Amino acid sequence: MIVFANSAFTDTTGYAADEVVGRNCRFLQGPGSDEDTVQAIREALTAGDAFSGVLLNYRKSGEAFWNELSIAPLTDDEGSVTAYISVQRDVTASVRAESRTRDLLADAEAQRETLSALLSITRTLAGQTSTSTVLRAVAEAIIALCKADRSSIAMWDSAAERLSMVEVAGWHGPLDDKIRAFTLSPSDSPELAGIVAMREPVLVTRSSSSDWGKAILEDYQITSFAAVPVETGNTLIGVLIANWAETPGPPRLEPDLRARLAGLAGITATAIRTAGLIDQVSWSATHDPLTGLANRELLETELSEALTQIPSQAGLAVIFCDLDGFKRTNDSYGHAVGDRVLQEIAARLTAVLRVGDLVARVGGDEFVILLTPVQSESEINAVLRRLRHALDAPVQAGDVTVRARLSTGVAHHRAQSPRPTAAALIQAADADMYQRKNGRQTPRPLAPRPDQELLQSALATAVQRRQIVAHYQPQLDLRTGRVVAVEALARWNHPELGILDPGQFIPLAEASGLIHDIGRHMLQTACRAVIEARRSLPELTMSVNVSRRELASPAYARTLDDILARCGLPASALTLEITESHLASDPELLREQAHALRDYGTRIAVDDFGAGYTSIPLLQNIPITELKIDRAFVQRAPTPGRDLVAGIIALAHELHLSVVAEGVETSAQLAHLRTIGCDRAQGYAIGPPLPHDEFLQLIAAPS
Ligand code: C2E
Ligand code: CA
Ligand code: CA
Repeated sequence: MIVFANSAFTDTTGYAADEVVGRNCRFLQGPGSDEDTVQAIREALTAGDAFSGVLLNYRKSGEAFWNELSIAPLTDDEGSVTAYISVQRDVTASVRAESRTRDLLADAEAQRETLSALLSITRTLAGQTSTSTVLRAVAEAIIALCKADRSSIAMWDSAAERLSMVEVAGWHGPLDDKIRAFTLSPSDSPELAGIVAMREPVLVTRSSSSDWGKAILEDYQITSFAAVPVETGNTLIGVLIANWAETPGPPRLEPDLRARLAGLAGITATAIRTAGLIDQVSWSATHDPLTGLANRELLETELSEALTQIPSQAGLAVIFCDLDGFKRTNDSYGHAVGDRVLQEIAARLTAVLRVGDLVARVGGDEFVILLTPVQSESEINAVLRRLRHALDAPVQAGDVTVRARLSTGVAHHRAQSPRPTAAALIQAADADMYQRKNGRQTPRPLAPRPDQELLQSALATAVQRRQIVAHYQPQLDLRTGRVVAVEALARWNHPELGILDPGQFIPLAEASGLIHDIGRHMLQTACRAVIEARRSLPELTMSVNVSRRELASPAYARTLDDILARCGLPASALTLEITESHLASDPELLREQAHALRDYGTRIAVDDFGAGYTSIPLLQNIPITELKIDRAFVQRAPTPGRDLVAGIIALAHELHLSVVAEGVETSAQLAHLRTIGCDRAQGYAIGPPLPHDEFLQLIAAPS
């Protein structure tokens, strides 16, 4: 009989102290409490001994928990027992983890096979980039992994408290239709109620199941099924089910089957989460978050496609639109009103289009409309009229009323004329608009550029003349706040033009092949610098940019080997940065090269990640160690529910990559990156690229 219970007891069990005082502890037990353990406690207490062990108990709410008990007798002077002290601890979380490990270790051979089977499924799933293809692959995997005949996957709707089938495999005829339509709520099925409450797998056979279970076996013509919950964190997201019919099913949930089911459930949860992120990332990469319209990239893709698929008698047209006076609206009423206006205009533009046409937002107040197909000029004119009328009514944004006017320009591509590129057609529409707006023929002025030919010939001797130098920009570890890495950035100390940025000479060097010399020189300079810097910061790593041409050259690995050997720098202290779009352009060759470099021990970063979304699925085949998120993404403020950078970070972490945010300019960006789990940051907020000596001073100074 309980005489006293402390607040930890009442917190754990949910009972108030006055509800338990005077009662026997048995009320904590329930259907899942192990009878042998209960008996052992009883025997220990009767004999006046101490007891310690773990028992499944139930809270007042009915929820089960694993209770670690140590019970010790208190005796009086004569040695007779007067009371027991029971110290209890809720160990549910660790019991679950441990039972999984124990199950997995039970049989080394089975474990090896199971792990390799799970690993191969992980690989298959890693290649799936949408939720639906993940589910398809999991349904197949259940059958293979559990040696079952059929499978089904149900998703859990926590609001409605219902399971609904989303994918099945191995079913035939009318049963296939029937199982796909299956839904279930826990109140109908004790087995399901058990899964929802305990998050443990169950096996339903003719000899061990509720009436509900027996009816299901009968209805679906199966002999047994096993079901395992799929969770992310602590949230139930669904159930995987293996069904046996022709093949004899397992008599019990043996450790190996349990491990296979639990392993598969874990992989599935990860794959679904990743696929969801990819869905989101790919949408965001092709759409304007403010208006939901297509962005320029999607427009160019669609336009290029339309240009190749145009019917022989038809043409297409591109309309460039610019909102007159929008800047004034923004300046006088603020961005919130400006945003509302853009959203309203986007909706109206969309409404006037024909099925199959596309409207994209390509700049602050610039929209491009793609009309396809177009048979005649008059069709285009009809759309232009409708566009003008669409803006007749003023736009209401909060209590502000704004009148909007569109300037438009058209480029009409006729079927028989030579095929232009998408970019050229858009530019022609832009130029047409510019001319109509200004009533002049002058094209937009271009910024003056240094003479390219002169630069090119000067560049040829720049390395020899020691004009190419490296500046170094620090990267901060966001957890420790320390500088852990540095990127070497090329600068050209031009005798007349001053210091030139890489954007002004790297493209020239790539075109002429001088990039091999410059790359070797940068690598050598950077390796020497990091050796020096590691005297103050022994763990410091150095990042060096590698251009596509260098990477494609078979001699590159040799060069790298020579330089590292000569400086005595371990390969693991070097990170080679490869731009994402390069990875996409020649995946096979670069994949091989990347493998060679990775085998060699250097780390590999994907640079400007996010700018060329195309290569996300590719990442899984390239042995990279980190992602550098392009600064355009880092600097774009997150909107609620659509934080692309957080999405990329989560995705990268699923793939075991570390993430560096580039171009971090404000302390607000820095703080946000820290909260969403970004590993490292680089940018003006931390420090600009510095010349060699200044950089060494920076890291030598105690911070
Ligand atoms: P990157 O690899 O993406 O380098 C980052 C660029 O962002 C650098 O420009 C850096 O100065 C700049 N930056 C750093 N922090 C901030 C910031 O907070 N805000 C903004 N707006 N910018 C920031 P940089 O030095 O002009 O280099 C441009 C590109 O040239 C590099 O882009 C890289 O692709 C290429 N590059 C530089 N050095 C080399 C090299 O040695 N070899 C090759 N192949 N390419 C190089
Ligand atoms: Ca870089
Ligand atoms: Ca970059």
